[in-house]
Amino acid sequence: MELSRLATKLQSSLTLEITAKAKKLKEEGIDVISFGAGEPDFNTPKYIIDEAKKAMDIGFTKYTSTSGISPLKKEIIKKFKNDNDLEYTEKQIIVSTGAKQCLSNVFQTIINPGDEVLISKPCWISYPELVTLYGGSPILVDCAEENEFKFDIDSLKKNLSDKTKAIVITSPNNPTGSVYNYDELKTIADFAKDNDLFIISDEIYEKLIYDGEKHISVASISEDAYNRTIVINGLSKTFAMTGWRLGYAAGNEKVIKVMSNIQSHTTSNANSITQYAAVKALAAAGNEIEAMVKEFDARRKYMVDRINNMKTISCVKPKGAFYVMINVSDLYSDKIKDSFMLSKILLDEAKIAVIPGAAFGDDRYIRLSYATSMENIKNGLDRLENFINNMK
Ligand code: PMP
Ligand code: GLU
Repeated sequence: MELSRLATKLQSSLTLEITAKAKKLKEEGIDVISFGAGEPDFNTPKYIIDEAKKAMDIGFTKYTSTSGISPLKKEIIKKFKNDNDLEYTEKQIIVSTGAKQCLSNVFQTIINPGDEVLISKPCWISYPELVTLYGGSPILVDCAEENEFKFDIDSLKKNLSDKTKAIVITSPNNPTGSVYNYDELKTIADFAKDNDLFIISDEIYEKLIYDGEKHISVASISEDAYNRTIVINGLSKTFAMTGWRLGYAAGNEKVIKVMSNIQSHTTSNANSITQYAAVKALAAAGNEIEAMVKEFDARRKYMVDRINNMKTISCVKPKGAFYVMINVSDLYSDKIKDSFMLSKILLDEAKIAVIPGAAFGDDRYIRLSYATSMENIKNGLDRLENFINNMK
């Protein structure tokens, strides 16, 4: 029997797959160092864990309203006001099972068959797949390394068509670590206005930002940008809560309502215990985040220095998130033809797990995550360097 043509087009998430494979090899006693992880290697702060225990003890274990409990929405609204200078009402907020579900809901809400969505390339794996799943066409816009992998207006104009429906901005970016400044966001906001596009702004790495850079939400650029932007955020990265599954979105009331209707038929509310603990997480956000960012920053600097001192490979210094995109194209040969092959060889021979750039749409790169200990980073980079030095 024929399966859904759209669903069978999808690839499984390679970032999740490689991370799981590296974990499994380690459990089997194989000495693999994983640079695959898309999650903080810190534990969730204790005050959040304690709050989840309390939720269970008091029986906060039932269905909640689909779009999230009111105390959590109130904290999310405060967060937007304090951090992003954005004003929302509760009807403009939806809480979901991870930012990934928010993205899924929003693409499902806005896409009609054939609609095109502009996405910067290299891009996080799930955007094009979700757009495809809902009958749209992801349009991957080449973003040059020299421009820190950010959109430039000429390429945006070149990729525009009468079917363009939305543009995705990810700042700080996965996989490139780039951070958009005010002028760049203003240019994109104007472009969206001129062409009447939705803006999907994925801000999940908002707090993981370095070198004195400041996170700006594109929704705060102007009233027009506010009206056409759906902001996506979540607790996974900021509070080291990847497994808890808590994301949220904010935007136009009508869009959020449709997202909530979809969610009411798919997963219903986000986990009640997680929601309860999330209220506290947002209300008491503090020193843990600062300490985590400081540690990520030290690892980032070390990693970038080491890579740029190795022969044949290089990387741009990322300004946010916890990934480094390494340009490995000069390593390619008859034996190593592409990033998939290189990643496989690195795992088999050097015992390091990395994500091939092809998974993000650009075969010239591999992605290394520095969400792993400094000791692992040092050892892993020694292995990478030895591998390169011994290549014939
Ligand atoms: N957006 C980006 C850019 C990501 O890297 C991730 C990875 N986890 C997500 C969204 C989804 O996060 P979650 O579903 O864990 O909230
Ligand atoms: N976003 C993370 C990554 O890129 C986690 C895995 C995923 O959800 O794709 O590695």
